[in-house]
Amino acid sequence: MPPSGCPAPPRSLVPRPNGAPGELAVLPWAGFRGAVSYTFDDANASQIEHFPVLDALGVRMTFYLTTGKPEASDATWARALARGHELGNHAKSHAMQASAEEIEAATAFIEETFGVRPRTMASPYGHASYTELARSRFLVNRGVGGSHVVPNDHTDPFYLPCYVPPANARARAFDERVHAARADGAWLLVLVHGFLGGTDYAYQPIALEEFVASVEHARGFGDLWIDSVVNIAAYWRGQKAFAAATRTVTPERTTWTWELPEHFPPGHFLRVTVGQGRLEQNGVPLVQDERGYYEVALDARSLTLASSV
Ligand SMILES: [Zn+2]
Repeated sequence: MPPSGCPAPPRSLVPRPNGAPGELAVLPWAGFRGAVSYTFDDANASQIEHFPVLDALGVRMTFYLTTGKPEASDATWARALARGHELGNHAKSHAMQASAEEIEAATAFIEETFGVRPRTMASPYGHASYTELARSRFLVNRGVGGSHVVPNDHTDPFYLPCYVPPANARARAFDERVHAARADGAWLLVLVHGFLGGTDYAYQPIALEEFVASVEHARGFGDLWIDSVVNIAAYWRGQKAFAAATRTVTPERTTWTWELPEHFPPGHFLRVTVGQGRLEQNGVPLVQDERGYYEVALDARSLTLASSV
């Protein structure tokens, strides 16, 4: 496992760098061809019931909790967190009309109950009234509808698109969206509310087997980064922050300095390649991995490429 905690991409995907000095490239999606995030809203009972099956898929997912529901206190969510999944904010009472109190109550609940600050949220009903309130409180907010996100695009981070499968959707319906995102080098977000046979109401429930089959299908490509919203969003927004960096060039070195967006979580990285030269952050040389990649710490807000000699 590399220091970033990102899964390692397939070895064959990106060749070792071989170019002129000073060429630096950020690898989209940490070196993967595309990315997928599976999200679950509303803290529904069928998510809790089937959590062991979801967890056994071996990919980190995001659970957006409606914290006013009794299910939000279920011990499953602490287990999910311990297993690397993300707990996000889906407001307290799922009101159609957003309010700061609703959002802050959900954040406070998650902090007090699970000891973690939610970095991302999902708008109840995908309602646009949440967008501006999310902008000053989170790294990203998930909306509904739309297609997918590509590196350095102009998607609003506070109304991320997602695919909401229809009730009883078959795996094939998910797979088509995964194929489209992979073909476009894009990040697909998927929103599921719950599974058929649940004991409570879940919007547009689907069969657990179909969901499992689709995740296994996506995983089977081996070149998709399947991870929580916060992890992939930090990469996407980090890459944009780096693209907007100030670059200072002297004959000996090039230095990039950048700002991170508000509410940017600590401990996130970009994977880059360079043609030649030495990369440093805070005077410490970065070490190339066996694929020829470097991992750049976004928290450092500065990167230097110096000539090799
Ligand atoms: Zn919801």
